[in-house]
Amino acid sequence: MPLADRFWFKTTWPFAVAVAGIGVGAILSAALPGYFVFLAISAVVAAIAILGLGIVTGSAGMIALCQLTFAAVGAWVVSLLNVMQAPGGFIVWLMLGAVAAGLVGIIVGLPALRLRGVNLAVVTLGFAAAADVTLVQIQFPGSVDGTSIERPALFSNDRQFFFLSIVVLAVCGLAVFFLQRGRWGSSWKAVAFSERGTAAAGQSVQVAKLTAFAVSAALGGIAGGLLAGQVQLPFASSFTPLQSLALYVLAIMSGAHLIDMAILGGILWVLVPELLKRWGIDQNWGFVVFGVLGVQALTGGTNLGQTVRDLFWRRADRKTANAALTALPPDAADDATAITTTTTATVDHAALSGEPVLTVEGLTVQFGSLKANDDVSFQVPAASIMGLIGPNGAGKSTFVDAISGFLPKHGGRVLLGGRDLAGLSPTRRARLGLRRTFQQDRVPPALTVGAYVRFVARRRLAASDIDEVLEFFGCPSARARLSSVDVGTRRLVEVAANVIARPRLLILDEPAAGLSHDEHLALAARLRELPARYGVALIIIEHDLDLVRSVCPMLTVLDFGKVLASGPQADVLANPDVVKAYMGETELLS
Ligand code: ADP
Ligand code: MG
Repeated sequence: MPLADRFWFKTTWPFAVAVAGIGVGAILSAALPGYFVFLAISAVVAAIAILGLGIVTGSAGMIALCQLTFAAVGAWVVSLLNVMQAPGGFIVWLMLGAVAAGLVGIIVGLPALRLRGVNLAVVTLGFAAAADVTLVQIQFPGSVDGTSIERPALFSNDRQFFFLSIVVLAVCGLAVFFLQRGRWGSSWKAVAFSERGTAAAGQSVQVAKLTAFAVSAALGGIAGGLLAGQVQLPFASSFTPLQSLALYVLAIMSGAHLIDMAILGGILWVLVPELLKRWGIDQNWGFVVFGVLGVQALTGGTNLGQTVRDLFWRRADRKTANAALTALPPDAADDATAITTTTTATVDHAALSGEPVLTVEGLTVQFGSLKANDDVSFQVPAASIMGLIGPNGAGKSTFVDAISGFLPKHGGRVLLGGRDLAGLSPTRRARLGLRRTFQQDRVPPALTVGAYVRFVARRRLAASDIDEVLEFFGCPSARARLSSVDVGTRRLVEVAANVIARPRLLILDEPAAGLSHDEHLALAARLRELPARYGVALIIIEHDLDLVRSVCPMLTVLDFGKVLASGPQADVLANPDVVKAYMGETELLS
């Protein structure tokens, strides 16, 4: 087993890195020339703030231009508690400042539930400007009478305080590392790529965005609190909107969702102005330098962090890992020979007599004057497979969107088991056991295959469960990065993850798109096994009629939004309306 896969290694190496970092900090705090100690604290403070930005912008993909306002909140709380001589001392004040900043982060994040991109940027920058004006007015507690902030007794001089800041950075880095690897981290990366994909996985989009804002702001608050302890008399001029903007640019260009790059960002934050000073250039040019590099990162896509990282951390798993969906799974080997283009799925009448898992009654979806779904009614028996076919534009994807809660304003009723789904969000429906995949790629490339499967499954999974379902669908290993697999393979991973979520009903919107004909057949063999193996009912939307005929005992045909026929495959394919609609598709009739 490779070292990187061993359990003890996986759980201990982040701590080892943190301890090593603290060790380096201890050496630096003793060895740095006095002048640089203060700068070094500034770099650590900036690194923590950038670490926070890495979450909200780098991972969750939202533009937040008020990171130093969150820092100001942290600094303000520390100042206040210092003036009050609150019990616990600096470290406790620092943590309370982080909590306060986190709460403010949630409030600032609320607009993010409705706004995106530039609009969100404007709101956060506006907030930063308003907070700046307020801060200049009210000042930091104790600043008027010059009450300087009391550092902890053990860390009272600058060298000791630098060491303390390194310890705080190490703790923050560890916390971010484990958060990023956990459910929240997955939800941040998912929401950055696709809000619909996130909701369809049963994850609340609102919770994903607000946790990103809260954690990011809390880190900002810690940075601010540390800065307050560093300067001991904080002023509003340390937290201006312009500096927040510069910090954002720095986070973008350093690729701050990577912890090491956040630290690099922190170093640049003090290094660039310092160099300009030495060269006798006005320090405001620092903003210009950051601006140019930021524009480069935003437009050219080459960010400094990734470039540096590629230089030092050449990773073996960068190589692509695509599906190997050729061999049939072991339990299907018996009827492997039966999976040919002439196989026809047959109806198991006993199974069909149970309670339907899905009942659709009079479903109607209107886009302007177009009725994309027109009085659609049919039932899907539990643990069965229903094929949903029809020409392009027939309304199949619209049907899936309506059933899964993405088109709440439809007419008619949808029942899962006996439960009316009216008014339930996509997230709720997913949690009730109605899952769907998408015709477009909605699998977040920032995750590994394993992290994605865990995220979608929403339940505790042993590594062996994950490996088993991945192997069943011929997917790459759990360690592979989704960014390194092709789109067809990503769709297979999407199917595998949704299957292991153990839903009652799984709707697959063209799962075989992007796969070769041989892979179609192999996929068909696996899909046929799913109801027995995982107790799931399937609705499969597919153009490949070979696949449909070999997999789906039941068929529903849509045409211009209307159901032409629904029922056992043989009956549906013999229906004169279907025959007429499919004229020319002679292979269907053969
Ligand atoms: P299918 O998946 O069967 O190819 P769709 O459900 O994607 O068909 O589309 C059905 C019809 O509804 C098409 O005519 C399409 O142009 C239209 N349509 C789909 N989505 C929208 C939308 N958001 N707004 C307006 N028209 C739409
Ligand atoms: Mg479609």
